[in-house]
Amino acid sequence: MPEGKPAGVACRQLLPDYRCAIFDHPERPAVCVRLRPLPDMCGATREQALCFLAALEQVTRPVACRPAGSERRS
Ligand code: SF4
Repeated sequence: MPEGKPAGVACRQLLPDYRCAIFDHPERPAVCVRLRPLPDMCGATREQALCFLAALEQVTRPVACRPAGSERRS
């Protein structure tokens, strides 16, 4: 996805049977090629894998930062 994939949205290369449509193609993203799935990532079910992904997205979500000393006081 050249413009990036939003969190919570399936990759558009994902087929209905959950296989990658471009698995053996050179245009498959490098991050996908390099990824080595681990049992903790996949779990025993699709639901466990999606739960892991949701947690990963949560902890890697960008946060807005304020300059030090700019906190509001009431
Ligand atoms: S391996 Fe990469 S390109 Fe293929 S479906 Fe998964 S995220 Fe998309």
